[in-house]
Amino acid sequence: MAALQQIIAGNWKMNLTLSQGREFLDKLEPGLKNKKPARKVILAPNFTLLATLFPRCAACGVELAAQNCAAEESGAFTGETSVAMLKAAGAAYVLVGHSERRQLFAESDQLLAQKLHAVVAGGLTPILCVGETLEQRRQGAAVEVVLRQLSDSLMDFSGARLIVAYEPVWAIGTGETATPEDARLMHAEIRRFLQGRFAWGQDVPILYGGSAKPGNAAELLAQPEVDGLLVGGAALNPDSFLEIIEV
Ligand code: PEP
Repeated sequence: MAALQQIIAGNWKMNLTLSQGREFLDKLEPGLKNKKPARKVILAPNFTLLATLFPRCAACGVELAAQNCAAEESGAFTGETSVAMLKAAGAAYVLVGHSERRQLFAESDQLLAQKLHAVVAGGLTPILCVGETLEQRRQGAAVEVVLRQLSDSLMDFSGARLIVAYEPVWAIGTGETATPEDARLMHAEIRRFLQGRFAWGQDVPILYGGSAKPGNAAELLAQPEVDGLLVGGAALNPDSFLEIIEV
């Protein structure tokens, strides 16, 4: 079976204004044009940057993801952004269930199932994030938690395209990285789940996220079933992001 094309996705979170995003691209573009990386590159800026950055990103082969979306299609939901709006602004993907959304905004797997439905209905590809807390890992419940997040949020999933990102909560923004062995073991469990759930489960890219950086990217990317990385902090700097793309 052909290996999946690896993906490097950068999540800018609530960082980088439009002018800072443009400066980032000023540095990224020449690097990408010179090296033509074999990996797919995705950037998830704040939604206010999507429409403006889209043409430049498209020209250098970078696809855009939104960091979140509304579960509803349209209507009286002040402050929310629909999938149709994100698509019109140039997004091809939407992050669903990032641990910061789960923890800081109390997003449940039931709500995430609705968001997944909205993303599929709107014609975009979801990047579903899952991951256990440190306490859950210490209790030996990491696999159970991740598989439950997957089965609850994907309960009624009717899409034909999906990306999963395994992001142990204790490794996000902390400088702590899961060992390549931790990542390998969890990704194997996720793959087993996906193969059991979907006829096309083998084709779902599974990304690892959590303090990925130039110094650990190669080892993580060499693990079986690690089909790419979701990068936070190191994706704010075009030099380190480029280094990760090319390791
Ligand atoms: C993330 O936000 O998805 C992430 C993995 O962040 P960091 O790389 O900073 O841990």
